[in-house]
Amino acid sequence: MILTDTHTHLYSEAFDDDRDMVINDALKRGVSRFFIPAIDSSYTAAMLSLEKAYPDNVFLMMGLHPTYVKENYLDELKHVEEMLSTRKFYAIGEIGIDLYWDKTFLKQQQDAFKYQIRLAKKYHLPIVIHCRDAFDEVFEVLESEKSDDLFGIFHCFTGSFEQAQQAISYNMKLGIGGVVTFKNGKIDTFLNKIDLNHIVLETDSPYLAPVPYRGKRNESAYLVNVLEKLSEVYGVNTEIIAQITTDNSKDIFKV
Ligand SMILES: [Zn+2]
Repeated sequence: MILTDTHTHLYSEAFDDDRDMVINDALKRGVSRFFIPAIDSSYTAAMLSLEKAYPDNVFLMMGLHPTYVKENYLDELKHVEEMLSTRKFYAIGEIGIDLYWDKTFLKQQQDAFKYQIRLAKKYHLPIVIHCRDAFDEVFEVLESEKSDDLFGIFHCFTGSFEQAQQAISYNMKLGIGGVVTFKNGKIDTFLNKIDLNHIVLETDSPYLAPVPYRGKRNESAYLVNVLEKLSEVYGVNTEIIAQITTDNSKDIFKV
């Protein structure tokens, strides 16, 4: 069984003491493909050294996270563009709009999101979308930028059935993680109406650990708990879900 964690911040400080052990625990459970979203330029060196240590398992994205869009965002976007011009990345991410913590930079977030969507088209890469308290705003940008060559993943999807269908209509797969195991997470109530061809698995580790680890540090090994929950929701065995979601990740990332 090959499981793909399409969203893990393995370079995070949260793993500084035991990163190799965390990766080995994941590998032992079949989680062997790690897709690594960027945050801002301060993490680039850590991402590159992670890739150097695990070149067969680690696949890097490049982008500016919406929560990190501040006064200096144009410099950060320049960094993104420079990195893209010098080497291979597998997606532009994570990008999008986050109005949960702070609405001050909404206009800049919208601007950075659009700009990075255009970079994705230029480099023929998928986008990985971060959307928090901002469905309308994210959909507005996707509506204005939609095209056949725009595709990707709606990371940590937590919306309604209608919002899921709308995301899929923009060529987005739904990134499903720990939230599907939460009692109040809600997506487990309609997910089985959505074809598995639109689903990829993710942890978003170190955040959003699934039950029974909820509230603790999340790890890629816990992707198995997400897998088991999906197996229950869909009434399909875990091997088949692993296979379909890994195939979906290959369609998106081309690796
Ligand atoms: Zn993330």
